[in-house]
Amino acid sequence: MPGVLLLKAHRSEGADMSAEGDCIFCQIAKGDIPAAKLFENERLVAFSDIQPVAPFHILVVPREHIATINDLRRKDQSLLGEMVLLAQKLAGEAGLAESGYRLVLNCNADAGQVVFHLHLHVIGGKPLGGLVS
Ligand code: AMP
Ligand code: ZN
Repeated sequence: MPGVLLLKAHRSEGADMSAEGDCIFCQIAKGDIPAAKLFENERLVAFSDIQPVAPFHILVVPREHIATINDLRRKDQSLLGEMVLLAQKLAGEAGLAESGYRLVLNCNADAGQVVFHLHLHVIGGKPLGGLVS
């Protein structure tokens, strides 16, 4: 029976399109794929979104491969706090503190998540309209 369990575990991993080896944001974090980085430290990287929806559109990304919000655990509380504070800092440096900006975390298909490595969108530089559009 242990063999069956191992096989299942292996299949599950193999079918996961967001596995770390294939993950574009893991590769950007490692420097294997270029990106317009604004910031990096031991836990986070931030870079410009390749298809910006506003004059300012960056992504704040943990170096650790966490596929979706559903995969967050209690141990990740401080990481999320760091992500929001980095978003605040970079939006502020871009001059958006007063005019405002939006932070977006998409989870899975209905939210339109297409990259399955947790990322915080930081969007601003123009009026963004209503939350649901
Ligand atoms: P989401 O829909 O929340 O999964 O958003 C994924 C975001 O990643 C989109 O806004 C894409 O434009 C962006 N993106 C995808 N590939 C890259 C890349 N190589 N460099 C920068 N941004 C990217
Ligand atoms: Zn990843």
